[in-house]
Amino acid sequence: MVKLCLEIKAELENVTDLVPASENTFEYFFQVKCNSCHEVHPKYVGVNRTDEAEVSGGKNATANFVWRCGSCKRESSAKFDEKARTTAYSADANGQFAPLLTIECRGLEFVGFDPRGIWSCVGLETGTKFPEVDLGEGEWVDYDEKAQLPVGVSAVESRWRRA
Ligand SMILES: [Zn+2]
Repeated sequence: MVKLCLEIKAELENVTDLVPASENTFEYFFQVKCNSCHEVHPKYVGVNRTDEAEVSGGKNATANFVWRCGSCKRESSAKFDEKARTTAYSADANGQFAPLLTIECRGLEFVGFDPRGIWSCVGLETGTKFPEVDLGEGEWVDYDEKAQLPVGVSAVESRWRRA
């Protein structure tokens, strides 16, 4: 079993605390690499904190994601750490990588992350809530009426490392 940490970096304009809008149901799209045959699967898979599936051969063991490699047919799985919540990306980290989440992997590794989905953030000085930051196009722009400033999220990148 290996614990992996997903780090993201982004360019935040006049906002802070970028985080998936609904942590328990947010669908993270990850790219999977099988540790048995080393195949990287081109299609991204959806993983969230709520889904639970039984792991074969385990004694009532469950994981958030159970997957069978299309090439070698081996089963592998991944599980979020229930105690470690997703960490919001703060303006302090602007333009630099910061940890978002950790996940335990058995038989697979995640090698890619597509940030599509609904995130949220708040105005940097104003605290204005932006609950629907759609990163489906990879970036988002809006306007903070209170600060009379444009706000935005762009240049989202990610990387995985051993936790
Ligand atoms: Zn495989």
